[in-house]
Amino acid sequence: SKRQGRNTFSFYTEKMSEILARRLQLESMMQSALERNEFSVFFQPQFDLKTKKLLGAEALLRWNSNRLGPISPAEFIPVAEQNGYIVEMGKFVLREALANAQTWQQDLPYPLRIAINLSPRQFRDVRLLHDLQKFMANNVDPKVQIELEITEGLLLSGDDSVKSTLYQLHDLGFMLAMDDFGTGYSSLSYLRQYPFDVLKIDKSFVQDMGHDSGIQLVNTIISMAHGLGLKVVAEGIETEEQMELLTKLGCDVGQGFYLGKPMPSNVFDELITHFRSL
Ligand code: C2E
Ligand code: CA
Ligand code: CA
Ligand code: CA
Repeated sequence: SKRQGRNTFSFYTEKMSEILARRLQLESMMQSALERNEFSVFFQPQFDLKTKKLLGAEALLRWNSNRLGPISPAEFIPVAEQNGYIVEMGKFVLREALANAQTWQQDLPYPLRIAINLSPRQFRDVRLLHDLQKFMANNVDPKVQIELEITEGLLLSGDDSVKSTLYQLHDLGFMLAMDDFGTGYSSLSYLRQYPFDVLKIDKSFVQDMGHDSGIQLVNTIISMAHGLGLKVVAEGIETEEQMELLTKLGCDVGQGFYLGKPMPSNVFDELITHFRSL
């Protein structure tokens, strides 16, 4: 009816202005949130699936706003991407991750690997190489390995400068991981032209392993990745069954709530203490 139509219309306009207002609010608060210490970095552990050894962690940004409470990165990262503030946030994550990694490394007899997310906007920043080089120079313990995670979207531009930046980063000593593999459109053979070390299977594939066809797909990705000389990390492992299946399929590294949720650095300290003695 006419009345219904009007209600639907106002529902959508109200919803849209709500979304827009929230976005503008986040944007205006973001600028000062760093100075107000509202950001922190959490660490989610990654384990060798064969030996169950702690290998390292993925660094994940957290925003606990004084006014709005915790805000999900899925909500604020895209906003920061758009206004460019992600570049500042990224430096903060790198600083925090490196400082903690150095401390942890002193307690471990084997190299620790910390993975950091790089969004396309950060990747395209002209100062990226320079900044990362400086961070590496300050990374006094050469045992610490830094892995940069990038998503498929970045490669799809077919831009040659992307390729050359990836090679330069690799030459500087960074490990490179293809994040969320399978959610975009790139094929595995396409990855051959880039210097990736690691392929991260997206959690949606791990969660689809309830069906035979899902298991078959993950199996294929793992064997093809290994054929290309890539290590495979599975993310989003939520059950023991998923972990055991992935181990059987030869997946190298596991990450997920079942193995450990993202945690503040002082909680990660305890994990390090445990693995120090092994
Ligand atoms: P991502 O890179 O794919 O990170 C993995 C996400 O999966 C994290 O969400 C993590 O908390 C979540 N996760 C881990 N294990 C499980 C599991 O077993 N089940 C499920 N359902 N989820 C799991 P988070 O921390 O909310 O981050 C969301 C996204 O925000 C990240 O996705 C990444 O794209 C972006 N992000 C987070 N931190 C940073 C950062 O420092 N820089 C940049 N550029 N992006 C970031
Ligand atoms: Ca990631
Ligand atoms: Ca991911
Ligand atoms: Ca993701």
